[in-house]
Amino acid sequence: MLPWTSDYDRPLPAALTAKCRPLHCDLCSVSMNSSVQADMHYVGKTHDKHARHFLTQWARESGCEPPRRLRGGAEGSETAAKRAKKAAASEVRE
Ligand SMILES: [Zn+2]
Repeated sequence: MLPWTSDYDRPLPAALTAKCRPLHCDLCSVSMNSSVQADMHYVGKTHDKHARHFLTQWARESGCEPPRRLRGGAEGSETAAKRAKKAAASEVRE
C-alpha cells in the first residue's frame, strides 16, 4: 500500500498504482534515489498533475468516478511532503 494513495477518497485504479514504483514513477517519467525522495515526489505538484490527468482519462474510459484527492494537492503539497518525510523517517527507525 502506497502511503500517498490514502489521500484519495477511494482506491486508485491498479492501472495507476502499477506505474508508481518505489523508486521510479512511470506516470511522470521520474527516477528517485531514495524512498524519502520518492514519497516527496508522490505527494508533490508534478505527480499530482499527472495523476489527475491520468484519472480523468481513466474515468472517461472506464465509466467510473475518478478518485479525488482529499488533502494535499497543489496548495497543500508542502505539508503533505513534510508528512511523508516524517513517515519515511519513522519507518527507518522501526
Ligand atoms: Zn509521478
